[in-house]
Amino acid sequence: MTIEKQVLPRKPLLPNQPGAWLGMMGGGQLGRMFTHAANAMGYQVAVLEPEQGCPAAQIAQHHVSAAYTSKDGLRELVKYARHFTTEFENVPAESLKLLGYEGPVAPSAACVSVAQDRLAEKHFFTRCGTNTGVYPAPHWGISSAKDIAAVKDELLPGILKTVRMGYDGKGQIRVNTREELSAAFDTLKHQTCVLEKMLPLAYEVSVLVARGVDGESVVYPIAENMHRDGILFVTLAPSPNVTADVAKKAQEAALHIISELGYVGVLCIEFFVLKDGSLVVNEMAPRPHNSGHYTIDACVTSQFEQQVRATAQLPLGSTAQHMPAVMLNILGDIWFRLSDTEPVDPPWDQILALPGAKLHLYGKAEARHGRKMGHITFVAPELAQAQKHLVEACRILGIQEPEWV
Ligand code: ADP
Ligand code: MG
Repeated sequence: MTIEKQVLPRKPLLPNQPGAWLGMMGGGQLGRMFTHAANAMGYQVAVLEPEQGCPAAQIAQHHVSAAYTSKDGLRELVKYARHFTTEFENVPAESLKLLGYEGPVAPSAACVSVAQDRLAEKHFFTRCGTNTGVYPAPHWGISSAKDIAAVKDELLPGILKTVRMGYDGKGQIRVNTREELSAAFDTLKHQTCVLEKMLPLAYEVSVLVARGVDGESVVYPIAENMHRDGILFVTLAPSPNVTADVAKKAQEAALHIISELGYVGVLCIEFFVLKDGSLVVNEMAPRPHNSGHYTIDACVTSQFEQQVRATAQLPLGSTAQHMPAVMLNILGDIWFRLSDTEPVDPPWDQILALPGAKLHLYGKAEARHGRKMGHITFVAPELAQAQKHLVEACRILGIQEPEWV
C-alpha cells in the first residue's frame, strides 16, 4: 500500500526541528506547495492520500497510499511523523482526532469540525460578532419542510447552501421564492442546508491569519477576490478597493476569530463588502487558501511556510508583502482552447516572457474543465502594472479578461 522512496524515517534529535518529518493529510496542490516550503526548510514530508500520483505525493519523501479514514494508513503516517497538518477541509475530523493522540495536529479536529459545517460556522461567527461587530449574512437552517414554512420573507431572494461538503460554488442554489426554495431543497436531496439572504455585494475579500501554539497571531494584507462560475478567478493583493477602515475591521475580526477558536495553523476567512460599505463574514477554510497563493512570491513568509512553522510549533514569520501582486488561476479549460478533444499545452514561454510572471503548475496529469491545474502570480512595483500583465496573460491563454479593464 506504500510507495517506498525513503529507506527509513530519519530520527532527528527533536521531532519538531528541521530534518524531522511532518505528516500531511491530503495530497492535492495545497499539500504539494506545503511540501515545497517544508523541504526548503529541511523537513521531510509524509503525505496520506488515496490517489496515486497526486500533486503532493509526486514530491513528498513518503506517500502513504490509503483512505483518509484507514487505521493502517494513519498508523503508517505516525511511524514517520509526530507533527501533523491537513490540506483539505473535508478531512474526516475523526482521523485528525486519532492523530492527536500521537502528536500535535494543527489545526485540531475541533477547529476543523466548525469549518466543515456552515451552520456551526455561522453560529460561531455570530458569537464573535458581539466583539468584532462583523456578522454573517442573515440565515436560517433548513432540514425539513417545516423549516421552509418558517423562513421569514426577508430572507428571499436567497442562496440555499448545503451545510457540508460545499466548495467552489458547488452544493448551492439561488432561489427567489418559497416554491423555488422547496424545489432547491428537493434537488439537494434534503441534506441539511442553510438559506442565506442574497446580499448586494460590492466586492469580496479574504484575510489570511495564522496562530502559533504560543497563541501569537499574525495577519496578512487584505486580498480581493474575483470569481467565475463559482471558482476563484483572480486575487489582487493588497485589495485595491478596500478602505483603511474596512481593512482594519476585517483584520481585527480575523484575529479575534482565530484566537477565539484556539486555532493553531493557517486560517483563511472570506468576507463580503456590501454596496453600503459594511462588512459581512462569509466562511473560513482551515488551511492555506487559493486566495493566499500570491504570498509565495510576494510576501516574506508564504502561507505554506507559515503552515510549516505552525505545524512544527516554531515561531511564525513576517507577513509583510514585498510587492503588489495579482494571481490568475489556471483551470484545465485552457488546454482545450485549440481543440475540444485533445488537450494542448498552453504557450508557457509567452507567459514567462511577461514581466514579474511566476508560474506554478501542480503536476496534474490530466487537464479537465474546471480543474485547478496551476496559477500564475504577477508581481510589480504598482498593482496596476501587475494587472496589466495579467490581462496580457489572459489574451495569450484565451481567457476572457477580467472586468476591471
Ligand atoms: P464556496 O464554499 O463554494 O466558496 P461561498 O459561500 O463562498 O461558497 O459562496 C460562493 C460565492 O457565492 C461567494 O464567493 C459569493 O460570490 C456568492 N455568495 C455566497 N453567499 C452569498 C450571499 N449571501 N449573498 C450574495 N452572494 C453570495
Ligand atoms: Mg467561498
